[in-house]
Amino acid sequence: MDALRIPLSAITDEGIVVEVTAPGERLWPKGVKEMPLTAVRIAGDLVKLGDKDYLFRGRIVGAYRGRCDRCLADLESPFDLETVWSFKQGVAKDFVADLSDDADTDPFEESPSVFIFEGNDIDLTPSVCEEIVLAAPAKTLCREDCAGLCARCGANLNIASCSCGIENETGNSALAGLADLFPNLRPDVSKE
Ligand SMILES: [Zn+2]
Ligand SMILES: [Zn+2]
Repeated sequence: MDALRIPLSAITDEGIVVEVTAPGERLWPKGVKEMPLTAVRIAGDLVKLGDKDYLFRGRIVGAYRGRCDRCLADLESPFDLETVWSFKQGVAKDFVADLSDDADTDPFEESPSVFIFEGNDIDLTPSVCEEIVLAAPAKTLCREDCAGLCARCGANLNIASCSCGIENETGNSALAGLADLFPNLRPDVSKE
């Protein structure tokens, strides 16, 4: 995504505003497994801190496209990520010692992710990708109490009940969870 590649010469001491909306599929480098995304908006400012030291502070806003884990409905899970990235110009191996020193600092302290770059521009795309991958939800539901699909007939129980009369295995009620743990105590109640 070329709009996310910022020439160093454009970055003044006061910093520059970055505001780019990119189609999700344009953010992935070749060879990286793409995650389906909506358009993604990257907005923030990039300032020069020192000779070879830059800082980006901003937000990445968009949504993951996926399916509900229970009922398989298409859905979008929005994300709004605040980011602080430190960009240091140089060759990655020269920073290895530095970075491992940082590992000794308090892990709970807010510290920016550090990216090393070579050349005369800063490409924000890999940082955007990394942030989006790390924030991806492990589980997606169309709604907290999605009733899922009937394990027997496949009916979408959010839309209609079916006549199978069995408790949906993927149901979310605390009762269903207990019943799984103690099958002998399975309550003899229907969903009605
Ligand atoms: Zn669902
Ligand atoms: Zn059914």
